[in-house]
Amino acid sequence: MATDPAAAANPAPPPPTAERFRWPPLPFEPAGTSRPGSADEIPPPAPPAPPQRRAGVPARLWRVIEEEWIGVGSRSWASAAEEAGWLPDGAALYCPRCGTSVGAFEADAAGCSACRERRLPWSRAVRLGPYEGPLRDAVLAGKYTAWKRVCLELGRDLGDAVADALRIEGVAPEAVLVCPVPTSLRRRLARGIDHTGLMARAASRSIGCRSGSLLRRAHRPPQQGLSGEARRRNVAGSFRARAGGLGPGGRPRRGPGR
Ligand SMILES: [Zn+2]
Repeated sequence: MATDPAAAANPAPPPPTAERFRWPPLPFEPAGTSRPGSADEIPPPAPPAPPQRRAGVPARLWRVIEEEWIGVGSRSWASAAEEAGWLPDGAALYCPRCGTSVGAFEADAAGCSACRERRLPWSRAVRLGPYEGPLRDAVLAGKYTAWKRVCLELGRDLGDAVADALRIEGVAPEAVLVCPVPTSLRRRLARGIDHTGLMARAASRSIGCRSGSLLRRAHRPPQQGLSGEARRRNVAGSFRARAGGLGPGGRPRRGPGR
């Protein structure tokens, strides 16, 4: 195709952008009644853009709301334990019979110096750790702030420790039944949580065994502030076998905490 050198050197001015002559003319319309698609239509204002949130702030803010305003119940036991550097006790750190903390070679299957001469109502103890520090805080939080999540997590960890002990001793999970130490109905209603029932349920899941609420407990004054001997006197005779706790075939019925 040929090109005009003069036109290339002096390009024609661009066509005016003003309104062009139009025929036939558009009918007159009062202002504000323009038809959709007409040249003088003013587009409707765009909806306001959503407020921009700075990255990270909502998550931090929500965590503050959960932990400071709602309470510690939103935190997990796993995160609290990790922050505190807490780990469950290995079997060598406590007496396998009474659960007391011991040093190396201070305990064997027959017990330790604290329990060898004593008759105990159980033959074997498994623990997560001494009742102190973050573990104590978590137990108390689960019990008194209805922190269901921590009860389930503590139960799961305890169940893992029991499962290890059962494996070492060659006990099949099918032969095991987890029974929680019950809370009195009055106290459970006041607290809004059956913390031992929740822990037992989670522990039985970890072990792969059954659980059942086979005991009931009469209401007694609180144990706080009592010495060890006074505590034993306070709860003496308060536990009874639950009528109908075992269903047909000796299978445990579902307890109130399940
Ligand atoms: Zn012992």
